[in-house]
Amino acid sequence: MAFPLHPDFLKSAQKPTQFPADSGREVAFSGRSNSGKSSAINAITARRGLARTSKTPGRTQLINFFEIDETLRLVDLPGYGYAKVAAAVRQEWRVLLEAYFRERTSLVGLFITVDVRRGLNDLDQVMLAWSRGANVAAAILLTKADKLSRSARLQRRRVIAMTLPEDLPLILFSVPGRLGLDEARDQLLVWLGKVGQRERSQ
Ligand code: GDP
Repeated sequence: MAFPLHPDFLKSAQKPTQFPADSGREVAFSGRSNSGKSSAINAITARRGLARTSKTPGRTQLINFFEIDETLRLVDLPGYGYAKVAAAVRQEWRVLLEAYFRERTSLVGLFITVDVRRGLNDLDQVMLAWSRGANVAAAILLTKADKLSRSARLQRRRVIAMTLPEDLPLILFSVPGRLGLDEARDQLLVWLGKVGQRERSQ
């Protein structure tokens, strides 16, 4: 399936007053630093370089907004879990993200990128809890699935699923292997209310 939408960079926000107007629908991406979040955004939207892969992870705690049209947005949340980040920056991340989940009524879906070999860490669980608390649907992208054999990645998904709510989609995902791409796009289009468009593009 070709991805039918064309997001463009809108703005970065360091604090809630800089968020764009809270109208329409938006879908956010979160994930541990180096989990493949930026690569996933670029692959799903078929826009190389839309989300920038950070060379100094965790320095700047910015939320990046991308506009699809006046009512629909994608959101790249700051990566987390980078060991060398100072406690003050970690606290900033927590305050900003908590405000985002609490305030953002247009947020309808959250993708969490998780390296399939590592599984969810504490901060992934925090993101999941915040999304559940805000009544926001979530899905996990189990990234870098090409690093494991087919049987090993299916086994990893089974093990990871055991600790998670049954209704949480776990999508095995690989950028070079193009694995899970259609499934992730389908989920995104459903959250954005673009299911009709998806069907036309198939
Ligand atoms: P982010 O920090 O979470 O945004 O992660 P990036 O998207 O920058 O990816 C971190 C590293 O993992 C980069 O070197 C990517 O090339 C690599 N990577 C991302 N996705 C995949 C994947 O599906 N397969 C493989 N083998 N490597 C990947």
